[in-house]
Amino acid sequence: MKIRIDDIKDKPLLVSAEEEIAGYPVLSRMQEEGDCTFLSPVKLQLTASREYDHFRVSGSVEVAVRMDCSRCLGEFETGVRSAFTIFYSRQAAGLLDEDEVELAEQDLVTASFTGDEIDLLTEMQEQVIMELPIKPLCREECMGLCSRCGADLNQGDCGCQRDSTGFSFSALKDFKAVK
Ligand SMILES: [Zn+2]
Ligand SMILES: [Zn+2]
Repeated sequence: MKIRIDDIKDKPLLVSAEEEIAGYPVLSRMQEEGDCTFLSPVKLQLTASREYDHFRVSGSVEVAVRMDCSRCLGEFETGVRSAFTIFYSRQAAGLLDEDEVELAEQDLVTASFTGDEIDLLTEMQEQVIMELPIKPLCREECMGLCSRCGADLNQGDCGCQRDSTGFSFSALKDFKAVK
């Protein structure tokens, strides 16, 4: 998504768009590597306005995604949504030393642009990635798999004798035994 700065007049510019995942290289790569499957285009809804010496872009980004649960290994579908406010300042020509780049990377709410367009691609990808869970769970109370027989405990008890302290303890015990 690119915004022409000439289109941002005194009144804030409202934009809504749906963009294909193919246009988002990092998300496409995650999908190719099997981390997740995106089920919808990236939906953007934002407001861009002029503010002092910079532009303020705020809104939300949304996408539907299918992932594997880290406990029961089952596939599940969920929606990822992130609300953001990003301040874009014009990048002064030739003023890109390394310190400045580092600073910009640490501070997620500021970004720069050059020329007569603000390109939101990098920041929108970041927003989506930040919202993707590192340990996806099909639901908070997912029971996971039996540490003995591997049955999905969400489907009911498999009848195995398990320690009363539950899955996490026995998994830990197994882990220690392997070591
Ligand atoms: Zn699960
Ligand atoms: Zn079992």
